[in-house]
Amino acid sequence: MKKRALGRIFKASTILLVVVLLLCSCEFFPFFGMGNEEDENAKDQLVTVLNDNVPYFSAEEKEKAQKRGYFIELSSLDDLGRVGVCWGLFDYGHMPTYDRETLNTEPTGWHQKEYDTSIVPGGWLYARAHLLAFQLSGLQDDPENLMTGTRDFNNEGMLPFENMTASHIKEERDHQVLYRVTPDFGNGDNLLAYGVTIESDCLNCDEEADYCVYIANIQPGITLDYKTGNNRLSTEEPEDEITIDEATFILNTNTKRFHRLDCSGAPATDSKNYKLTDKSYDEVRSEGYIPCSRCNPE
Ligand SMILES: [Zn+2]
Ligand SMILES: [Zn+2]
Repeated sequence: MKKRALGRIFKASTILLVVVLLLCSCEFFPFFGMGNEEDENAKDQLVTVLNDNVPYFSAEEKEKAQKRGYFIELSSLDDLGRVGVCWGLFDYGHMPTYDRETLNTEPTGWHQKEYDTSIVPGGWLYARAHLLAFQLSGLQDDPENLMTGTRDFNNEGMLPFENMTASHIKEERDHQVLYRVTPDFGNGDNLLAYGVTIESDCLNCDEEADYCVYIANIQPGITLDYKTGNNRLSTEEPEDEITIDEATFILNTNTKRFHRLDCSGAPATDSKNYKLTDKSYDEVRSEGYIPCSRCNPE
């Protein structure tokens, strides 16, 4: 009885969530879509149900997982240091009984910035988001399991789904849930993910706790640069792009040095610290930049 009622609650809450999200994405709540007008690959709604909410696991994958029993598998970081697919088979017996530790990993795209709390609840834009939730996996400060995610992505996007899976496992202590999180960095070399796909599939019961969703890495009111993870208020004008013909100096935004355009000590054009300026020597100095001692810009 209890089990069936719970299933109904889960299903009802999923449907409610979808309805709310559909409402929020329409023009009555235009703020939902304000975030990322510069990047057409970025989603403008926090949660999208995929594949009629049915996880993509094949029958073979499920069969193998069931034989294998509890496991966790993380992908190695790629050449750019980015996380990949993480998955596992979770059950009650392996849920962590210890506390969370502080996280220090700096995932790709980690350009942390504090905003007014009326824009970003809590102020800080980014969180180190566990791909496999701590409450399921017990994984702590593991670089292969942490990505840069916005506050809403983490708290409003991923967490309710993680809670749904965790509640099911706590309620049905002999059930095993196959769970996979797939980050979406697009096809290029973005350092900040557009979002993740989460698939949750209980191998011991039908559909009750199953879902297949895409969580977008967005924050209403903030425009994100997925290439670098840089970010700004959506109401602020983007900084004008300065071409090399217009430029006076190359700035290193990290070391706060500035260089002649031909200095071999200047940051490479593809470096995230590289920035061109068309300002004068004095203007650049007044912004706190120090002339490079190798090229002596003047
Ligand atoms: Zn189940
Ligand atoms: Zn220099």
